[in-house]
Amino acid sequence: MARLNDNYLKLAAGYLFPEISRRVSLFSEANPNADVIKLGIGDVVLPLSSAVRQAMHDAIDEMATAEGFRGYGPSEGYDFLREAIAQNDFGSRGVRIDPGEIYASDGSKCDSANIQEIFADDATLAVSDPVYPVYVDTNVMAGRTSNPDANGRYGGIKYLPCTEESGFMPSLPDEPVDLVYLCSPNNPTGMVASREELSKWVDWARANEAIILFDAAYERFITEDLPHSIYEIEGARECAIEFRSFSKTAGFTGIRCAYIVIPEELRGKDSKGNSVPVSDLWSRRTNTKFNGISYPVQRGAEAIYSAAGAKEVQANIDYYLANATLIKEGLSKAGFTTFGGVNAPYVWLKTPGGRDSWQFFDELLEKTHVVGTPGSGFGACGEGYFRLSAFGIREQVEEAIDRITKRF
Ligand SMILES: *Cc1c(COP(=O)(O)O)cnc(C)c1O
Repeated sequence: MARLNDNYLKLAAGYLFPEISRRVSLFSEANPNADVIKLGIGDVVLPLSSAVRQAMHDAIDEMATAEGFRGYGPSEGYDFLREAIAQNDFGSRGVRIDPGEIYASDGSKCDSANIQEIFADDATLAVSDPVYPVYVDTNVMAGRTSNPDANGRYGGIKYLPCTEESGFMPSLPDEPVDLVYLCSPNNPTGMVASREELSKWVDWARANEAIILFDAAYERFITEDLPHSIYEIEGARECAIEFRSFSKTAGFTGIRCAYIVIPEELRGKDSKGNSVPVSDLWSRRTNTKFNGISYPVQRGAEAIYSAAGAKEVQANIDYYLANATLIKEGLSKAGFTTFGGVNAPYVWLKTPGGRDSWQFFDELLEKTHVVGTPGSGFGACGEGYFRLSAFGIREQVEEAIDRITKRF
């Protein structure tokens, strides 16, 4: 038999969402008439904006003509998209990002999973806890860790606890690491790092020659005066990579488009101690392993920056944020302790009566037929917490909150 990659076998009991699906399927089989409301997985529900649809239709029509046909495009994305991103996502906020520093892709999941490949096998890393599982699992697959302990924590990863006392913000690592993954607005806690908070990280990264991997998939949900990009912080161009996605921004979870920013100034060192631009390696990787995203998708993504597209996209964000408010206020009135939900589509709640996260999951499903996500699935520090997603149809969100407040 062919030898397998043992690192994959270290992964703790499967991915979180398949386990949720398994429990929901069992419940639905046993209770075929139950009207189950899913506020668990972070997937959008509203239809695509008409500006996006039109742009994609036009691109397909264009491809069906002799003059308009296109084959392979540039692996990093077409200039029209990279320019639109640089101008609208950064320039408009006073942040200088060159279109050449932007690499379009088919998702931030892949980008945040793949980025570790261009760092040394023995590069050290820190992650906040709780955390989006992709950052940890991909480093496990790459062999940077030992087997997990009883809490699901891997040796070789520095965990930065995000607790209620610290406002769910990670503190700086107490030992040097090469890479640190930060996510703001945060999945799962819904909390956002302030300018001061991010400045602290940038100063630390520069002083320690570390690189911050900054996941800003939810920046569009920020309603308060808080940084949308790490590059709003002085010095971040020398120490940070940023991930952005059209998934939550514009309902692209099924269309697939995202991008990564690697500033020209960002450097790493090779085994001889030479300083090398990080973008050289990412560019090489992209051109070797990826042939770009489809032209119609890139035209659709570009359309979110048109006047009509921007308005439609904002209306959807507002809809989800209004759901988040309903969830947060409804639960607070019912006596739950809640966090997040103001600058993010997630409400993070403390499980009542000291129940553990999975106990609360099962009880919630049993009593109210509502599906959420157990906090412990995001890390040891998520134990005793629970995530409800605002990505739902309004009537269902209202119904879910009504049921929860009545039964708890
Ligand atoms: C949803 C999400 C993404 C986006 O992933 P895509 O692959 O672009 O759909 C990235 N990071 C986090 C933390 C997310 O929750």
